Amino acid sequence: MGPNFFDTARILVTGGAGFLGSHLCERLLAQGHYVICLDNYFTGQKRNILHLLGHTSFEVIRHDLVNPIFLEVDQIYNLACPASPVHYQYNPVKTVKTAVMGAIHMLGLAKRVKAKILQASTSEVYGDPSIHPQKESYWGNVNTIGLRACYDEGKRCAETLFFDYYRQNKVNIRVVRIFNTYGPRMHPNDGRVISNFIMQALRNEPITIFGDGLQTRSFCYVDDMVEGLVRMMNGPDDFVGPVNLGNPGEYSMLELAENVIRLTRSKSRLEFQPAPMDDPRRRQPDIGLAKEKLGWEPVVKLQEGLEKTITYFREILGRA
Ligand code: NAD
Ligand code: UDP
Repeated sequence: MGPNFFDTARILVTGGAGFLGSHLCERLLAQGHYVICLDNYFTGQKRNILHLLGHTSFEVIRHDLVNPIFLEVDQIYNLACPASPVHYQYNPVKTVKTAVMGAIHMLGLAKRVKAKILQASTSEVYGDPSIHPQKESYWGNVNTIGLRACYDEGKRCAETLFFDYYRQNKVNIRVVRIFNTYGPRMHPNDGRVISNFIMQALRNEPITIFGDGLQTRSFCYVDDMVEGLVRMMNGPDDFVGPVNLGNPGEYSMLELAENVIRLTRSKSRLEFQPAPMDDPRRRQPDIGLAKEKLGWEPVVKLQEGLEKTITYFREILGRA
């Protein structure tokens, strides 16, 4: 049955012109909803949403979330925040403001108009974890004064705010902890490992391995992540999270580099550079809770996801 007037929601996606946000807007429109995309274009790009601009149920607002905004909506996905270490460390004070004041403004809006609100939190709340894989019950190991703290602590404080608005004001919240996610529409100069390695491989430039390359991450393809976000928003009201969303397949950066070189048939060699401060050594989600409560688990394998992402970056290079 197609969507009708009564199951169409007005949905605000903050950070909607970003990598994850643009895929989410696309999915929500396809489901027949009215979508308002809000962004200040710090790391997002108009190109990501260009194909949606003619859609009658799609609206775009240029706005910086450190300032309040008044809108009539039924649901809010709060994604606005730079996600790549290079970008969130560019102006760390602004990153804290976006994470914390952005959360306050969106929670205030949700409270006023009685909207359901989902927070895009992060595996970074676990810091450099001493528990492996990471379960939601783990409280984390974060350096409060390090270079990553603006993001990690900003996102931790946002979680605190979500749960205080939930307890104090009965706001209908959802909190998801997103683990490394990748796919088409990542910014080519974003600085994250997948976009860096693919761009370097396609240009036959050295692949920059930070540290010894034995640190691990678990990479989730964007379509799987969007499915998880939508399921969580529409899941039972008594399951508010926090819930881990990510792909449990764990790879070292050396393994990732080998995969990218093989799939791109690149002539790139490896170039070792110093490890960044507080770089987590291991990261892998325990997704037992998401499986149990949402019936969700990723289906796209790393090779398949990398191939799609490589195709996207090839197109970008072709256009340049
Ligand atoms: P992204 O940088 O592509 O998207 C973030 C978007 O937020 C951009 O469009 C940016 O312009 C916008 N933005 C930033 N500051 C803003 C502000 N003050 N006001 C309005 N808009 C602002 O990153 P992404 O990967 O799409 O991440 C989206 C969300 O998911 C972020 O909140 C991020 O913390 C979270 N997350 C992502 C990952 C991942 O691996 N992609 C992992 C964990 C958490
Ligand atoms: N990394 C790397 N080379 C790069 C970019 C990143 O070796 O060119 C490493 C980085 O040190 C980290 C991992 O890849 O250990 C993931 O980094 P990313 O910035 O993508 O995300 P995060 O550290 O936030 O998980």
